[in-house]
This record gives sequence, C-alpha cells and structure tokens, in this order.
Amino acid sequence: MKKVVKFGGSSLASAEQFRKVGDIIHADAARRYVVPSAPGKRSSNDTKVTDMLYDCYAAAANGDDITEKIDAIKSRYQEIIDGLGLQLTLDEEFSVIRAKFEEGAGSEYAASRGEYLNGIVMAAFLGYEFIDAAEVIRFDENGTFDAETTNEQMSARLEAVERAVIPGFYGATADGTIRTFSRGGSDITGSIVARAVHADLYENWTDVSGFLVTDPHIVPNPETIETVTYRELRELSYMGANVMHADAIFPLRKEGIPINIKNTNRPEDPGTLIVESTCRQPKFTITGIAGKKGFCAINIEKAMMNTEIGFGRKVLQVFEENGISFEHVPSGIDTFTVIVHQTEFMEKEQRVISGLHRAVQPDTLDLESGLALIAVVGRGMRAQRGTAGRIFSALSHAHINVKMIDQGSSELNIIIGVRNEDFEAAVKAIYDIFVLTHL
Ligand code: ASP
Repeated sequence: MKKVVKFGGSSLASAEQFRKVGDIIHADAARRYVVPSAPGKRSSNDTKVTDMLYDCYAAAANGDDITEKIDAIKSRYQEIIDGLGLQLTLDEEFSVIRAKFEEGAGSEYAASRGEYLNGIVMAAFLGYEFIDAAEVIRFDENGTFDAETTNEQMSARLEAVERAVIPGFYGATADGTIRTFSRGGSDITGSIVARAVHADLYENWTDVSGFLVTDPHIVPNPETIETVTYRELRELSYMGANVMHADAIFPLRKEGIPINIKNTNRPEDPGTLIVESTCRQPKFTITGIAGKKGFCAINIEKAMMNTEIGFGRKVLQVFEENGISFEHVPSGIDTFTVIVHQTEFMEKEQRVISGLHRAVQPDTLDLESGLALIAVVGRGMRAQRGTAGRIFSALSHAHINVKMIDQGSSELNIIIGVRNEDFEAAVKAIYDIFVLTHL
C-alpha cells in the first residue's frame, strides 16, 4: 500500500499540530509521501505564513527595511523547531531568502518559501528525505503547469525513494524560476505526487471531517458526505462548495485514485471519500446542495423561433463575442433564456442587447437580475422517482417561487433558480426534505 498524505496550513501551524501529524503518519506505514503546506493560523486572528511572506516581499519591493518582518516569519518556524526539540537551524536559509527578496526574486518565489521551509522542518521531524518541489514540478515559461513533464520527472525521482517530504504549492520553470499554483495549491501538489507514484490513496488532511452536505452558514451542523464521486464534487465545487482546490481533482481523476478528506484534529473520523465511481449507495437520495447568488437572466422572445434554425447559435455567439460565459440556457418554443453571472454581464449589458437585436431581431428582450442558482447534486437521484417532485413541494411549502429549472439527462443534478432573497430558505427547505426527514 502506498499513500500520499497532504497536510494543510492549520494542521501545521504549531509544534502541537506537527506532533498530531507525526502520530498520524507513524500510525500507518503506507503513509510514505508527505506534502506539507506552510504554517497556517494558530487561532482565528493569526496570520498565515504565506500572507506574511507576500507582505514582507511587498515591503522589500518598496525598498523598506524588512528586518522585523523577516524576524517575525523566522520566529514562526523557530517556535515549531523548539517545540519539537529539533536540532535544526534555518539561519542560512533565511539569509538566502532575505538576499533574494532584496534582489527582487518575485512574489511567487517569496510565497513558495513558506512550504519550502516547512518541508525542511517536516523532513527533519520525520527523518524522511526532503525533495525540493522546484526539482520535480515543472511550469512552462508562461507560468502554466506542465503536467506531463512533471509526471515523468516526479515518477523518476520518487521511484527509488521509500519515504519523502515534498513541499506543496510551487514548482519551477526549466531555468529554475520558482512559480506557484493559485492559493490553496498544496492540494494540487499532493494530487500530482499521488498520480506520479500510483498511490492507492491520497489523504488530504485538513481541519474539518470532510465535505458537508450543504453550507453550515445556512444549515447549522449539516451532515457530512461519506462518499462523493469526482463528477458530483465538480458540480458542487463549481457552485461554491469548497474544501479542496478544484484543480487537485484532475490529476487523480485521470488515474482513478481515490481521495480521502480527513481531519487532523479528529483522525478517527472517517471523513469524505472521493472516488471515480462506487456501488455504495449514498445515505440520502442527494449527495449535496450548493449554490450561489448573483445571476442574471436574459429572456428573448420571438414568434416562430422554433422554425429558425441556428437561432441559439446566433444568440450565444453574441455572448461569445463579448467574452461572457453562459451558465444555463433554458428554452421554450418561442423563448430562449441565457443565464449569466451578473457582475460579468453588467459592464457589457448594452453591447450585448444591441448585439442580440442585430443578430436575431427578437420581439421582446428583457433582463431579470438578482437570481440565485441552487444545484441539488446526487448520483442517487438517477434511480429514484419523485426527486424533482419532492424538491418542488418542499419549495412550495416554504413559499418560494421557482424561477428556473434545469436538469440534464445524466440526472446527476437539478439546478433551480430562485430570487436572491429566497436563496437561504430554499437551500434549507431542500436539505430538510432529503436529509432531516431521513435521519
Ligand atoms: N500556503 C499556500 C496558501 O496559503 C498554499 C496552501 O496552503 O495550499 O494559499
């Protein structure tokens, strides 16, 4: 068995957290490749080391004296080193970092040092080999991640390595310039390593016991999702649910490697398992509910639209030419609606309207703003009759008017549009009918 384990910033914020991580790793010999984030917040009003590094670099770029800021970062690591009783000094590393900051090495280099240094500490703590991500993770000159070169380099480098620590979040171009992923990108590093070593499991350790069925700000203490498929997760994260970086899914999906989201502070909790496919029936008919506010509908009406071949293409071309991506296109015989993100649309609204008039000469065209979309997602819906019926009766009981419905034939999700102000009540009503009444 081979497992890749990634630990997030809050799991590595202090010596005490490092100890928990050590116990977790030692409890299972299969946990061979470790990907750490930079130290995160120790309490809610603390600052992440990554943010301290960005801030320090900005000061250096401004020509300010950075002694105090560098010392504050150094003391975050020193506290961990001392707390773990390690014989390790980062003095030399910090003088290189300081010099590079003053030379203008770039903010990506700066941010990457959080993971780099934490990797050194983690390797010393575990007695594992340290492998600098700059050696194995490749970006091209434009800063785009090069998945295939990385996979080759990473597999070759790790082939004969029994146990190693590979810091998250960054890599380098062919000439050695450090580049980072977007924020939260250590998740991606973990999945890249898992793909390269053909891991049996990628464990992503964080500070929650997995994905929740819905947003806890809307429904207090929602149930945890036990198993979710990559496709379901994609739908849910697209609509705003997040625990893991969305780009971390792809390398694993390619190889069918499962991911287990686990809680460092409650390692006994099973967490959420993310898989390609499963025979395990979900506990409830639905797997999750996610949603977002701030959409706008452009409603186009034209008599005999149904006979006009190419109508939809012409409409969508106007959006394409204005660089606006559309979310959904519910349509009727003589009506065609395009749903878009309001902020993206607003700046170009009048150009789109005149473009539509020119392209399709509608009888009427009206806009409706302030819409929220809710995705009710679940592989279990396919085999069930009455799912849509239950959703709509729950919404009707909650006195919520449904503005739009969209269900693809995959039956993986049902998208419902409601007014922004009905959003929370709608999510709650759907949660209640599928989850609360089935506990
Ligand atoms: N340390 C980086 C961040 O704060 C990357 C990560 O933690 O995944 O975004």
